[in-house]
Amino acid sequence: MEFSSQLFHLSQSHLTLLRQCPRKFQYIYLDQLTLPPVPTVQTERQLLGTQFHQMMQQKVLGLDVNGLVAACAPLRQWAEAFKQFPPTLIDGERQTEHWRSQVLGEYVLIAVYDLLIQGESHAQIVDWKTYARPRSVEVLHRDWQTRLYPYLLAETSTYAPEQITMTYWFAEAAEAAEGTGHSLTFAYDQHQHEETAEMLVTNLERLTDWRAAHAQGVPFPQVPLSAGMCFRQGRSCRFVDRCERQDFIMDAQEEPDLEALACIDGIAEQPLLAMPSSSPGRN
Ligand code: SF4
Repeated sequence: MEFSSQLFHLSQSHLTLLRQCPRKFQYIYLDQLTLPPVPTVQTERQLLGTQFHQMMQQKVLGLDVNGLVAACAPLRQWAEAFKQFPPTLIDGERQTEHWRSQVLGEYVLIAVYDLLIQGESHAQIVDWKTYARPRSVEVLHRDWQTRLYPYLLAETSTYAPEQITMTYWFAEAAEAAEGTGHSLTFAYDQHQHEETAEMLVTNLERLTDWRAAHAQGVPFPQVPLSAGMCFRQGRSCRFVDRCERQDFIMDAQEEPDLEALACIDGIAEQPLLAMPSSSPGRN
């Protein structure tokens, strides 16, 4: 069994999809199946997300954003929310779109921080989200992004895990929490760091095994129907035919795993995995 000598770059989006449905991960990143055209509304949403991140990047660097928001109502609304309910940010050197990576075996773990603030004794990672705060803080706490981002900073800097925090700022207010629901900050510590390191080893070993089996013609496992990944919110996964799961629509809709779904909307599928070059894509 031989693998390519390429290093596989993995972002939190890749790890998340691998956990949600290994088979879908295989179809997209190993088989590189051609995806159907992205619906126009989704394209527009992605464009808006890009503009939002540009706006936030300029704002935290103290640059003028009036030109950017002038012709876009959602951007104006989000800029106003940021003005009224900004996240608490530490003092320190600010860097936007900051990359960190670490080689782990044949994999390269990568993170792109929307904002990294490096203070004297504390570092703060900030991530901007266009949507509202998820209802379950605990699910977000266990999300791969919340794990991987502090992990990589602790591994690639002199900051101890206890000196690192991760803050999410949500452009939309949380339900029934107008004015107080825009930010969430997670502390980090040595225990979480060791736990994440173990999880990474376990997950990457499993991925290596699945890739080896895939090279011998054995597909990656499918997610259980009860997880609700094949059919959700009235839409089916684009691979239901290939997975022969068309006939299970009603059963799956009756019993979704809500926890597994909680963070899905924040996940952008990346177009490529086997990548000796650079881009991990936005999360
Ligand atoms: S149909 Fe279900 S099992 Fe198949 S790729 Fe999609 S989510 Fe995974």
